[in-house]
Amino acid sequence: MSSTVYLNGDWIAPEHAKVSVFDRGFLFADGIYEVVPVYSGKPFLLELHLARLYRSLREITITVADDAFWHELVRDLIERNNYGDANGLIYIQVTRGAEASRAHLPGNSLTPTVFATISPLAIHWDQPAPARVTLLEDIRWLRCDIKSISLLGNILLKQQAASVGAVEPILHRDGLITEGASSNFFAVHNGELFTAPKNHLILPGISRDWVIELAHEAGIRVHEEPFKVADLPQLDELFLTSSSREVQPIGQIDDIIIADGQCGPVTAILIEAFHASKRRLLNSRR
Ligand code: PMP
Repeated sequence: MSSTVYLNGDWIAPEHAKVSVFDRGFLFADGIYEVVPVYSGKPFLLELHLARLYRSLREITITVADDAFWHELVRDLIERNNYGDANGLIYIQVTRGAEASRAHLPGNSLTPTVFATISPLAIHWDQPAPARVTLLEDIRWLRCDIKSISLLGNILLKQQAASVGAVEPILHRDGLITEGASSNFFAVHNGELFTAPKNHLILPGISRDWVIELAHEAGIRVHEEPFKVADLPQLDELFLTSSSREVQPIGQIDDIIIADGQCGPVTAILIEAFHASKRRLLNSRR
């Protein structure tokens, strides 16, 4: 938990951070968010996270501050909460702001609500144990490319997955895999990597793009194309990516055992490459 959080220009204790019940984030989930991992006080892939934040804001037509503001906010969050040597997750949320009364159509002169906090993150340097996941129909909206704070669909799907002991639901729409409820999904077949293309059906994950970059560097061919649920039993390896999970191998999807329930060799290469990129950040100068 942060000892101080940012809210609309002020640095305050978390318990004193309050927003109006007429904030459109509270009433309509009219807002977006971003999450940035911090390793030993250094933000990881910050420029990519900020670019996605700006894109989310543009897509829902909220204008807030400039690049210098966000860089300063990230630096201040780390310094003011003594994360100089610690690992954390920065959470940034921007809503359209508060109005005098509830109306679907927003007025023109709203001041966005900006909130940011940092919390501890456990990072690992080993190979995570393969996880069990479950296939579920993707019931979310059709603008999953926007990092919206409206996550009810994701929450219902996560609850359904948890009820059968799965760590994450793998979502499909019209017979094609989209992503996880809070992660992107990858498959390996004949040594090549497959993941859904970036469009309105998935969140453009920063770890997804990073893993694709690492795969290119390792000489692994990558296909960003739709793939079928029906093909799952034939695939050699499966894994998830996200800022908090990094690369998470999958050992079982419902009744299908993947890679003998072990972490497959291509997944292992990418996990190691991910660790190496963290090490490079830690060894770089601040
Ligand atoms: N898809 C969804 C739906 C997510 O919520 C997340 C994590 N926020 C991701 C993918 C992974 O994105 P990232 O790698 O940027 O954490």
